[in-house]
Amino acid sequence: MGRFLNKVLNIETVYTFNDLILLPGKAEVEPKEIELKTKVSKNRWINLPFVSSPMDTVTGSDLAVALAREGGIGILHRNCSVEEQVEMARKVKRAESTIIRDVIVVKPDTTVSEAIEIMNSYDIHGLPVVENGRKLVGIVTWRDVRYSDRQLKIKDVMTPRERLIVATTEVSIDEAKRLMQKHKVEKLPIVNNKWELKGLITIKDLELRGQYPMASRDEEGRLLVGAAISPFDLERAKKLEKYVDILVVDVAHFHNENVIRATKKLVKEVSAEVIAGNLGTKEAVLETLTRIEDIAGLRVGMGSGSICTTGVVTKVAAPTLYATLQAAEALDELGLHGEIPIIADGGIKNTGDIALALAMGASAAMMGNLFAGTKESPGRLIAIQGKYYKEYYGMGSARARSKRANLDRYSKPSKDIDEGVEGWVPYRGTVKDVVKELTGGLQASMGYVGAKNIPELWEKARFGYIPPNGSQEIRPHDILIPKGGTN
Ligand code: 5GP
Repeated sequence: MGRFLNKVLNIETVYTFNDLILLPGKAEVEPKEIELKTKVSKNRWINLPFVSSPMDTVTGSDLAVALAREGGIGILHRNCSVEEQVEMARKVKRAESTIIRDVIVVKPDTTVSEAIEIMNSYDIHGLPVVENGRKLVGIVTWRDVRYSDRQLKIKDVMTPRERLIVATTEVSIDEAKRLMQKHKVEKLPIVNNKWELKGLITIKDLELRGQYPMASRDEEGRLLVGAAISPFDLERAKKLEKYVDILVVDVAHFHNENVIRATKKLVKEVSAEVIAGNLGTKEAVLETLTRIEDIAGLRVGMGSGSICTTGVVTKVAAPTLYATLQAAEALDELGLHGEIPIIADGGIKNTGDIALALAMGASAAMMGNLFAGTKESPGRLIAIQGKYYKEYYGMGSARARSKRANLDRYSKPSKDIDEGVEGWVPYRGTVKDVVKELTGGLQASMGYVGAKNIPELWEKARFGYIPPNGSQEIRPHDILIPKGGTN
């Protein structure tokens, strides 16, 4: 048999989200009790398996904050300058925390006018006053500066050290709360025995903790966040690592000698966890994990994205469900499945698709389209014939490429082709609304399968193949659906 005929006889079946279903199994718990907590990287857990794509019409700081508060995690896009990306990350980390470490401070000689400017630009209402580096000498709040002469110095309007309520680094959250309530203060500076400022606790942060019990947080109570990077831009990675929990190597084809080499170097130089992607085959995952130690996660799927034209333009793709299976097989072979999480990325249209990806071995699902339609995404909102839409475009589209910062993801080796389209997606309301819908749907799927949590779904899930003719039957049919209804 000739080698080409041999290739044809060995053609693989590549299943996509539209081809498979999950078969029912015995349920032991009700859907509401199903636990969706999962790993997003080797050492980081999130409460819901939802990750937002690093795209400039999807994940900026607002969406990352909103998604982490609900229990998922956002990956900040990199189609901007390093400074802008770092600023987005700082914003997420500053959104709330048990103890703020990265405290914005002023000096006694700062003018009232400058302090007001600082408060406005960071949207904060109190600033510790320090001298000689970190020595706390007072605190100034919005109330102190609001009606003061703008030329006065902060030392003339601040609450001085003698009248300050402070706590030491050992203070517990409950004690801090009691102190603030007793003395009716909203900010509690944390100092060591030399009066050096070590942090700040605010009543607002403590209240937010109660308001978002599902939030994905780090050890200091700050929201979890990730950022996309190029493997060839060590400087960006270094600047970001202080503010993010995970770095996601964001290239269209990770299985590339130069990318692997550069990532291997990068992983050694940064302390944040590094996720590799995008990967599509078992060989790619095996090579990645054997050549680069400390890869903390895998982002898989090539060509399934709703804005993606790679499959059409190049006829090369590893659709998300297939890529997930390939990665799961590789991890199993290395005894690492469950240890290193798989993030299934691209083509997810609804909760059923998320359930399929998880059942195939993924720990979390990455979504661009579904989150692009939310209020918090950075894209523009427009109305077309009485309906609202938000702008959404691929990172390899002419539109994104025109910003140039992202050129390396889709331009090597195909410098002159667009690999994405631009358009509009229906407005879906807030991240909270979308997450609620996804959570309910996913719990229902897992309920039918009979899995109490994601690891149990990996064990219990059984798949069925629906031939093209059959797909009509498992969606609404033989009924007239009013315009705007789903089908
Ligand atoms: P969606 O959720 O919209 O179906 O897919 C989002 C994913 O598509 C992203 O996370 C990313 O992996 C991929 N992607 C984003 N932009 C492009 C693009 O322009 N071309 C291709 N091939 N994939 C893209």
